[in-house]
Amino acid sequence: RKMQIDTAIIGAGAAGMMCAAHSKGRVLIVDHARTPGEKIRISGGGRCNFTNMHCTASAFLSGNPHFAKSALARYTQWDFIELVDQHNIAWHEKTLGQLFCDTSAKEIVAMLRGLMQKAGVDLRLQSNASNFAKTENGYSFDLQTPDGTTKVATRNLVIATGGKSIPKMGATGFAYDIAAQFGVPVTPTRAGLVPFTFAEGRFATISGVATPAKVTANGTTFEEALLFTHRGLSGPAVLQASSYWHEGQPITVNLAPTTDIFTALRTQRQTAGRRNLTTELAHLLPARLVEHLAGQIDLSGNLADWSDSRLQYLCTTLQAWELHPSGTEGYRTAEVTLGGIDTDALSSRSMESKTTQGLYFIGEAVDVTGWLGGYNFQWAWSSGMAAARAIAG
Ligand code: FAD
Repeated sequence: RKMQIDTAIIGAGAAGMMCAAHSKGRVLIVDHARTPGEKIRISGGGRCNFTNMHCTASAFLSGNPHFAKSALARYTQWDFIELVDQHNIAWHEKTLGQLFCDTSAKEIVAMLRGLMQKAGVDLRLQSNASNFAKTENGYSFDLQTPDGTTKVATRNLVIATGGKSIPKMGATGFAYDIAAQFGVPVTPTRAGLVPFTFAEGRFATISGVATPAKVTANGTTFEEALLFTHRGLSGPAVLQASSYWHEGQPITVNLAPTTDIFTALRTQRQTAGRRNLTTELAHLLPARLVEHLAGQIDLSGNLADWSDSRLQYLCTTLQAWELHPSGTEGYRTAEVTLGGIDTDALSSRSMESKTTQGLYFIGEAVDVTGWLGGYNFQWAWSSGMAAARAIAG
């Protein structure tokens, strides 16, 4: 059996569906999963944080920080919001410009499926593509569907299979293999937006405690919630910092990002000098955290026993708590994959390979990784749209 088409898209996730929905001509989209857009469905606790109102290229990590600008400017968060509005999907801002569906992430998947159907896109699930080859006017490959194998000839080939995060959900290194086959360079990949792990039981006794914090890794700081877990540290501030962290580096945690603990304790000392320091500190930080800290640093004595200089030293310690993660939870729980298809090898306008005509890479497979907060989906929409427009000519 043979199939002759204009565009084949491998991967029916966020970027692939967005691209398919806006492509022209005969379009085939292939996914090995049972259903398309599984990561959309489970994202944002089932409500999908589909974009961020403050989206700019500065919220992305990449070997070339300018690369994402063109696609993000040509299909913006406002464009996606307009699309969502046209489909009567109700949404709200949760915090920090993060937009979520009011009802369910399934609405975003349904919208994209509907758009693909309207565009006449041929969606093949539980299917695999293999034996890729460059032909005179495009590409050929074998398509294995539940009902047999078809030889496909296509003018354009779009790789939208995402990164390595969450292999249990079907994530593969497929995009990097295709890149290697066609001589497209790939930058080293690692897990991003991922919890830190620490040597056995480091925070086990305070697992579940959350507190506002500033977390700094490799010179970049995020101020959001920090969560202590059985395995180590999590919470938005930690996930954000993890994308900047490299193996072996320390991180710095400021446990008092907004409270002036020094002034608060000094003031209390004037009127309640006979109270325990830990009792007072527990008004400023979670009590269980104070208990834990008391096992690490000397917090004994009444407030009156604490001189200004000792209080000052304590506050400095709490504001620059240096910790040494033993690692991260890795791809098993990472929300994203850092690194990927080298942006130098792609056109920032179209996502097309600079050396191999008709070959496109979009979404998370590319070395463009967003912060937590809807940025990664916006990159999927914008890069998917960039390829769709270029292909439509
Ligand atoms: P994906 O959406 O991962 O799609 C890739 C597709 O390719 C999948 O359908 C997969 O089955 C298919 N595939 C893979 N390999 C093959 C193969 N060899 N053959 C055929 N098909 C293949 N980002 C946000 O912006 N907001 C959020 O709220 C958010 N929440 C998240 C929650 C979780 C738990 C996770 C894991 C991620 C979250 N992200 C979020 C990140 C976001 O999901 C990804 O950045 C985004 O889905 C990337 O889109 P993509 O299309 O490039 O890849």
